Amino acid sequence: MRIDIITVLPQLLESPFEHSILKRAADKGLVEVNVINLRDYSDHKQKSVDDYSFGGGAGMVMCIEPIANCINALKRERTYDEVIYTSPDGQRLDQKLSNRLSTLNNIIILCGHYKGVDQRVRDHFITREISIGDYVLSGGELAAAVIADSVIRLLPGAISDETSALTDSFQDGLLAPPVYTRPAEYNGWKVPEILLSGHNANIENWRHEQSLERTRLLRPDLLD
Ligand code: SAH
Repeated sequence: MRIDIITVLPQLLESPFEHSILKRAADKGLVEVNVINLRDYSDHKQKSVDDYSFGGGAGMVMCIEPIANCINALKRERTYDEVIYTSPDGQRLDQKLSNRLSTLNNIIILCGHYKGVDQRVRDHFITREISIGDYVLSGGELAAAVIADSVIRLLPGAISDETSALTDSFQDGLLAPPVYTRPAEYNGWKVPEILLSGHNANIENWRHEQSLERTRLLRPDLLD
């Protein structure tokens, strides 16, 4: 899979892909993440990528030309399954959407800044708009990192224990059950007996019950 992230702040995206699961996935060749500096596609002398809002009002707007230059240049190299724009008014990211994106080959993620991008970018280049929640960030970079992280960890081979990603919260529409590790007793607080029993079927039943219970309690909406 190839993920091309277009941004005016490439420095913000240097670290997230340099560690842990995301780095391993890249090292194994499961994913290639390219961070592209939008300013490289600006025709202005000062490499500016934004301008005042038509009609007035506070806040700058990202111009269509550099974004169009950049996306068109990328599209000349390969075809893209999705051109995503990070936006608070987009479709809310959830596990189902991450699963779907993880099956694609090439995607672009465009990070907004300031007041966002000129609407014509959204109308003519963007195939999907994604929000990571009902709050406003200063820019799309952290949202792009969240989207990419949730997708990359699903790629087969990204997580050493293949089944692990499948037993996370939301994968079966339920929250994950509680987990424990050594010591079996700390400060008089014991790990549930059943987890030490070695009886796999009973353990699986217990985990399922716990998942249901937790979901009923914390996220009843998921059971509807
Ligand atoms: N004026 C816009 C917000 C701009 S915030 C509005 O009110 O909708 C600047 C940029 O940050 C946005 O263009 C978007 O790319 C990104 N962003 C902010 N909040 C986000 C969120 N919840 N999810 C995804 N991207 C977000």
